[in-house]
Amino acid sequence: MPSPPRALLPALALLVSLSACSDPPPLPTHVVVVSIDTLRPDRLGAYGHREDVSPTIDRLAREGVVFEEAIAASTWTLPSHAALFTSLWPAMLDLGRFDAPAKVSDAATTLAEVLDDAGYRTFGATAGAFVGAEFGFDQGFDTFLPPQKRFEPAVERALAWIDDGREADADAPCFVFLHTYDVHNYVATADDRRRFVAPSFRSFLATKRNLGKFLQRNDKQVCENMGDRDWVYATARYDAAVATADRTLGRFVDGLAERGMLDDTLLIVTSDHGEEFGEHGRSGHGYTVYDENVRVPLILRHPPSLPAARVPAQVPLVDVAPTVVDLLGLEPPSSWQGRTLAPLLDGDGPSRPAFVSDTHVPHLALRDDGFKYFLSSMRPHEHLYDLSSDPRERKNVVASHEERAAEALDRLARFAERAAAETRYAGAALTPSDEALRSLEQFGYLAGGSESRGDDAGPPGFDWSALIERVRREAAERRAAAAEVAEER
Ligand SMILES: [Zn+2]
Repeated sequence: MPSPPRALLPALALLVSLSACSDPPPLPTHVVVVSIDTLRPDRLGAYGHREDVSPTIDRLAREGVVFEEAIAASTWTLPSHAALFTSLWPAMLDLGRFDAPAKVSDAATTLAEVLDDAGYRTFGATAGAFVGAEFGFDQGFDTFLPPQKRFEPAVERALAWIDDGREADADAPCFVFLHTYDVHNYVATADDRRRFVAPSFRSFLATKRNLGKFLQRNDKQVCENMGDRDWVYATARYDAAVATADRTLGRFVDGLAERGMLDDTLLIVTSDHGEEFGEHGRSGHGYTVYDENVRVPLILRHPPSLPAARVPAQVPLVDVAPTVVDLLGLEPPSSWQGRTLAPLLDGDGPSRPAFVSDTHVPHLALRDDGFKYFLSSMRPHEHLYDLSSDPRERKNVVASHEERAAEALDRLARFAERAAAETRYAGAALTPSDEALRSLEQFGYLAGGSESRGDDAGPPGFDWSALIERVRREAAERRAAAAEVAEER
């Protein structure tokens, strides 16, 4: 290597001494993960929505790293949160259906367990139901509260727990997990409802009964009867709920700041899935794998080590847990299938493939390379969308992209085979307690019944191989028919 010109030597020496002197950025001391259930990114200012809905999240986004295309691993609460915490794909966790759910396997290692082992004090406050202790979410938590019906008391309890811990040991690192169903249930303060929905606005959803059918119950008839005004009403009610949850999150963030902890904390805000506003004829979530269901917000904030950035690359939520342990300087368990997002945190870096699976209405999807390919237990069984030219997923292009579809099918077949072979992480069947059944019913999970899942809904422990074989056969028949037409011409 040629030596540098003499005139540059003093500058180089200065540079060397500066880099030797400057300390690496401090690691975060505390970790907070907030999951606002059913939160669509496109209803947040940080992702392009009006700015008066989510000022807290928007501020965290400005000060943190925003993943613009984060993809949940499933479309309903239990498997998606399980994937977030265990960094295992739900196809492997095998967590059943709304009406026949399973418990997250004890064999899986959760983020809370890793942090607990590393000496963190750990605290979880969730709204219960599918994120309750009964379903295995208390793994690794010193303190895991009984279901907190509303977000606000959960936040108050978390701050009180932090204070108690600091009294005992001011320096102990904390891990806090907060989850709320308030947006899922369109719960808003009266003020927020008035702010987003004029009291005189007429919609048949304004009655409790109809809104109840629209929420999670996914009553097809209700959706079919909805006109433009009803959708305006539904989305305004949703925005009001996001605004209320955002303000409560703001109280928690202020609480961390008042305790001098905010900038020592790796704060993560995300969700487990989105919500349908009739884009494909439905409401609720857990029934399809279109983007309105699988895209979620993902924001990481720790200004001392993470300069603000926006990351356009696609990332799956199974990568969140490995990212947390990496940013803390810990080793991930060997079972984790996600990878750290550290190389993407400055905004650059390639997209990662995202698998989505659901066994309530069986769906298996691969979102990669600007396309989404998925298998559905409902007809048609095979779907392919070109997300760059058709982001709303209107035109199924399977027939005109045979090669791409066949390649994606092979990848899904290999993925499903690996998941089926790895049985030790499969969820344990359970009979939910009366309390859990009541809360599941309250959240609408038990109301839809089999008819809401469609004609070909599978039993628990869905066997993907039969569906894959069926799709292979149909694709072969389609190609043969196309060849015949071509020959006749
Ligand atoms: Zn959920």
